[in-house]
Amino acid sequence: MLGLMQDWPLLIHKIIDHAARQHGARKVVSRSVEGPMHEIGYADVRRRALRLARRLDADGIRLGDRVATLAWNTWRHLEAWYGITGIGAIYHTVNPRLFEDQIVYIMNHAEDRILLLDLTFVPLAEKLAPRLTTVERYVILTDAAHMPKTSLKNAVAYEDYIGEADEDFAWREFDERTAAGLCYTSGTTGHPKGVLYSHRSNVLHALAMLPLEAIGLASSDRVLPIVPLFHANSWSLAFAAPMAGATMIMPGARLDGASVHELLETNAVTVSAAVPTVWLGLLAYMEQTGKRLTTLKRVYIGGSACPRAMTEAFEKKYGVTVVHAWGMTEMSPIGSVCHVKPELGHLRDDALYDLKMKQGYAPFTIEMKITDDSGRALPEDGKTFGRLKVRGPAVSSGYFRGEGGNILDGEGYFDTGDVATIDPDGYMQITDRAKDVIKSGGEWISSIDLENLAVGHPDVAEAAVIGVRHPKWDERPLLVVVAKPGANPTRESILAYMEGRIAKWWMPDDVVFVPEIPHTATGKIQKTELRKTFEAYRLPTA
Ligand code: ADP
Repeated sequence: MLGLMQDWPLLIHKIIDHAARQHGARKVVSRSVEGPMHEIGYADVRRRALRLARRLDADGIRLGDRVATLAWNTWRHLEAWYGITGIGAIYHTVNPRLFEDQIVYIMNHAEDRILLLDLTFVPLAEKLAPRLTTVERYVILTDAAHMPKTSLKNAVAYEDYIGEADEDFAWREFDERTAAGLCYTSGTTGHPKGVLYSHRSNVLHALAMLPLEAIGLASSDRVLPIVPLFHANSWSLAFAAPMAGATMIMPGARLDGASVHELLETNAVTVSAAVPTVWLGLLAYMEQTGKRLTTLKRVYIGGSACPRAMTEAFEKKYGVTVVHAWGMTEMSPIGSVCHVKPELGHLRDDALYDLKMKQGYAPFTIEMKITDDSGRALPEDGKTFGRLKVRGPAVSSGYFRGEGGNILDGEGYFDTGDVATIDPDGYMQITDRAKDVIKSGGEWISSIDLENLAVGHPDVAEAAVIGVRHPKWDERPLLVVVAKPGANPTRESILAYMEGRIAKWWMPDDVVFVPEIPHTATGKIQKTELRKTFEAYRLPTA
């Protein structure tokens, strides 16, 4: 027997309808790409999204067509997502930090018909345009006054483009499983693969993020999503914040420590989210200038492991709670969040920070397990590590156009490519990415643990650990270090700092200093590059 409740499809435009009706005056504040700050209420965001929807519809953009965006976090990018999805078209977020060949590949693979782009990216688009075979028109996210001279095909200023349509338009209705967004994973090997979100998965994921047990947002919150819209749905904030009626502060193009600090303070931000490298910049800026944080309550840190020194600096020095989170593009993207469960509320000092180093437990809608290589489930004792697998209504079931074939096991779980432990309280901790773990004499060493420890040294700004070939042990860890400006740490002082804090056989065999560590398009340490650089490196122990 079926229940007798209404069939109310979970469509993305219902979020902006709700925000406009219940929180219409609440603002989206942006640092515009043109420079000045800009404010708009949710009711106007909806009106402008409707105008874009109408204009796209008039231009022949239909259900399932891809409209690409190459843009920073601003109100225009946000409203564009709602406008595009409101007619059943698909936003395809292009990460500008990808290599040029990768951008060309994914845009042709996606068959994007229109590209909406920020002024910043006009030179890049002009360079790539001859190779973008499906783009019919370039819409530049600015007004007529700032419109540059450009060779881009059918180029038009966004404000003129939507200015030709009015908002007297109704969202289209369609199945909630209709595709809504497309985001390619950066793909350290092979071509990037397309993750295709649906209206249903995005709405369910945002609902799952609303409780305090996940991200937790209220209409009184002022949220700064530093994580870009092009990085895995801005961790759902583009949907969850309007759903909650929270004020959004959009940072535009400037993500350095000084700019982030200014935004946090002048906009009384209460909640923010970003990858560790961004927070590293903010913490360094505050250390140099002695500036404080007066309104920020919580920061969400994920995308790479959050070092202990970072958590302790935020909590002990600046009074800001750190919530470690883990996820991936294929998971919409949040898969675990590290809040302290009441039964662990007694933890203090080191024991508390040990817990906070974990990536956390799964919010509702995520199920996880760890298995060995043959797929057998492993014990959740907090010590045994295995391949981390996940399932849920906002986890990928396959990649766009079937790339990569079947990606689920017999029970419908997706292999994350991460190696992890799960403890009896349900907390998951990432040991490493399967391909980054260091295999020494048949045992595994976690590169993440060593990196987290090394950045606790007062003179170390950033650290990366890779496995280097060793005649006896197969691989041994090499620690690559970037020193803090003005500091001159030695190999010996760093090793002495690590000694006794980890098992003896985990100790790096050598330390090298570099001016800079390479990062991927999503802010992760690019281990493949580092491994290439140190391919022929001879360890003193070899
Ligand atoms: P990419 O396209 O670069 O893979 P994703 O954001 O999808 O971008 O990357 C997901 C991966 O990032 C995860 O599989 C995991 O290895 C890593 N990751 C994300 N969050 C964390 C975290 N808190 N700690 C450790 N690793 C993390």
